[in-house]
Amino acid sequence: MKNSRITKIQKLMIFIIILLIITIVFLVYNIKNFKQEEEIIIERYYYSETVVPSYIDGITITTHFLNKSSDRRPSEHRLIKYIVVHETDNRNIGTGALKHSQYLTSNSDNINGWHYTVDDHIIYHNIPDNEIAWHAGDGRSEDGGNMNGIGIEMAVNVDGDYDKTLENSVKLIVYLMHEYELDINDVKLHKDFSGKICPHKLITENKAGIFYDMIKKEYFLKYQTDKFLKEGK
Ligand SMILES: [Zn+2]
Repeated sequence: MKNSRITKIQKLMIFIIILLIITIVFLVYNIKNFKQEEEIIIERYYYSETVVPSYIDGITITTHFLNKSSDRRPSEHRLIKYIVVHETDNRNIGTGALKHSQYLTSNSDNINGWHYTVDDHIIYHNIPDNEIAWHAGDGRSEDGGNMNGIGIEMAVNVDGDYDKTLENSVKLIVYLMHEYELDINDVKLHKDFSGKICPHKLITENKAGIFYDMIKKEYFLKYQTDKFLKEGK
């Protein structure tokens, strides 16, 4: 009787030990995998200046990075948490994306800068995605728009087609969301960070809701998933 009881206890002990070993192996394997995955993400994004191709749905994207000596390009690397949407507030004739790209590249005695400018037919990329830029009006706020956001300026020149500019911006935003695994909550307006009424036209004409709906629709059409489109995560 006594022997048999010991055997039962021993069996139970062996079972528990095996269970523990399996649990430990499982945990170690997963932690290792998780770390590798994290390293791949950091490797991929921390060091990549751009992920956009030369064309998105027929819209040309011209990359012309500011010289590293420009005050507008602090050249500080970071990971990307947000896309920050702005408007140029420049309604003058001819002040589309090209003019703003030229403004950024030729006028370097100001610190203000942003990553992309979009108009009704073209997109310019002037600061690498993986670098900070001064566009959100929130200084060095740790979780802020300057330190973590890709700044996109939408042109509002009177001779441009504003609705087409919105469409082109949506295509760029959706592309960046997918590449950087951002969700709809990570797409912010400048106003969200500093309170400035920017993007001015989008806000004052009550088009922000429509704009977000356009982003969600385009994302779903392009990638056939709503994984990154859930509100209030
Ligand atoms: Zn702004």
